[in-house]
Amino acid sequence: MIQLIGIQVAAGVLGDLATSLATIFHVECRVRPDRLDVAIARDRLRNQFYSTAILQLMQPLAREDMRLLAVTSLDLYVPVLTFVFGEAQLQGACALVSTHRLREEFYGLPPRADLLRERLLKEAVHELGHTFGLRHCDDWECVMTSSHAVERLDVKGAGFCSGCWQHVAQALLPPPCPSSIGLRHNERQPV
Ligand SMILES: [Zn+2]
Ligand SMILES: [Zn+2]
Repeated sequence: MIQLIGIQVAAGVLGDLATSLATIFHVECRVRPDRLDVAIARDRLRNQFYSTAILQLMQPLAREDMRLLAVTSLDLYVPVLTFVFGEAQLQGACALVSTHRLREEFYGLPPRADLLRERLLKEAVHELGHTFGLRHCDDWECVMTSSHAVERLDVKGAGFCSGCWQHVAQALLPPPCPSSIGLRHNERQPV
């Protein structure tokens, strides 16, 4: 299951994203009502929020059998980079994406809700892909290709290439249920 949590973001944005993510990953996607206080992750000098610190704040809300994706309007950074669109725990439970630099207004252009929705979806699928253990993909159309600018984000698709999807589908398979393991074990017992 995928759960979404908003950090200073409109509820409508989360609802749309949840529907699209459920279609792409073929799993249930719910919006959590919780609020997360991330004031501690703010760097006063940069006037940005440290994404790794936000992931740590999300950790207590996460469970092993789900993915928790936070969506925020705050501008994110990691110390070595000017900004990040998002960050994820590789093969972990938590991921985070920001709409801040996905908006056309950020680049001095008129707002475009459709384009923002599309960019947010790609970024969300990409970061969730990392939580399923995927690294960056060489296929420029695959959502797992790295994109450090909106221009790059706009040319790639919102879906996985077949190789990446195979990996995700495998990770989404439910673990074998304990009763069936027990049964197989019993079968090996001498009669
Ligand atoms: Zn990435
Ligand atoms: Zn790929």
